[in-house]
Amino acid sequence: MMPAMRRVSRWTIRSMAAAAMALACVLGGCGGADEPAAAPYATDAVSVTFRQETVGDRAAVRGDADFVTMSTEGRLVVYAADRARAETAIRAALDRVAEIAAALNRYDPSSELSAINAAAGGAPLEVSSTTGRAIEAARHWWQASDGAFNPLVGPLVVLWKEAARAGVEPSDEAGEAARALLDMSALDCEPLADGRYRVRLPQAGMQLDLGGLAKGWAAEEAVAAARRTEDPHSVLVMLGGDGTVWSEPGWPRKWTVAVQDPRDAGSRTVLTKIELANGSVVTSGDYYRYLEVNGRRLSHIIDPGTGRPTTGRLAGATVIHPDGGGADALATACMVLGPDEALALLARTAGADGLMLSLSGEALVRHETAGFAACEIGP
Ligand code: ADP
Ligand code: MG
Repeated sequence: MMPAMRRVSRWTIRSMAAAAMALACVLGGCGGADEPAAAPYATDAVSVTFRQETVGDRAAVRGDADFVTMSTEGRLVVYAADRARAETAIRAALDRVAEIAAALNRYDPSSELSAINAAAGGAPLEVSSTTGRAIEAARHWWQASDGAFNPLVGPLVVLWKEAARAGVEPSDEAGEAARALLDMSALDCEPLADGRYRVRLPQAGMQLDLGGLAKGWAAEEAVAAARRTEDPHSVLVMLGGDGTVWSEPGWPRKWTVAVQDPRDAGSRTVLTKIELANGSVVTSGDYYRYLEVNGRRLSHIIDPGTGRPTTGRLAGATVIHPDGGGADALATACMVLGPDEALALLARTAGADGLMLSLSGEALVRHETAGFAACEIGP
């Protein structure tokens, strides 16, 4: 029997002897009878371990946290001068992730995003700076990607999820109706003097879905929150395949982030690795989340141009960008665009690099920028 494996409460950081056991707890659920069932976007089952480590010529305390948020395994690593600092940084990062997950979950009727969606076509709503800034970021990347990234795909996402459940494709009429709700230029999102935002979706039925940007944005926000505490040396936050890393100037070690082989998701085979001191890396692919209609496997990413799931243009896209929401939105846009247009998008986006993987039969074909190759250290 595993001792003390009750799920720890949302904000409790608990030091545990074995990180492996803690992760098993995260994956296995381990819900105690007195704990509420995990909401899909809750930052839950946090376990933290600390150890002394020498990095280059520096002695530091390393803190590792494993948790679940936005239906995704999260991982957080902090190096700091001592344990108290590491713990403070970890707590700040986890609090920020939880705050974002709660605000942006469109499947939780009490989230701010749900309130905005419910008010579509009606009066404007005042929301937190968190929600407002995330929507502003999404609008920016919609524009920068010429609409390949479009957070108003919400109704199309629902339509294709229902199609997968029913096993039949949506009707043309339903598809057309959902496609008529994609006009991001009509969205109102204005900052107010106090830092909050006023937001309005102008057409009834419009639904914002920030799933294409939320994890990358949250990873960066979490790192920023950790940095605002007492001077951590170096921080990594990974939410599934979406990560941000940061290190203070002169920190002797870079972070290594793996890119998984998109053909072999079950065993998590590493295709290649990149090294980075600062910035965000996001991988988008169909290996974890996908829809199935009539035995056909369909992407969970919608092409706003056709209103249909993107099919097979790319098996995976990994994007590096200084900003987490940017890396995430660009990776989603690349999946929509396919290799050539994706490379063109990255080329015209300052600070962006990437590796696109397409399939030729069973073989992977690589399409990458020079900057990506420069960060790559191989498998
Ligand atoms: P993952 O969630 O697997 O990391 P992505 O970052 O690529 O993958 O985001 C996919 C999610 O983004 C979908 O589940 C959906 O909620 C939303 N989405 C789908 N198509 C688009 C699109 N063209 N633009 C913006 N968001 C999208
Ligand atoms: Mg994305």
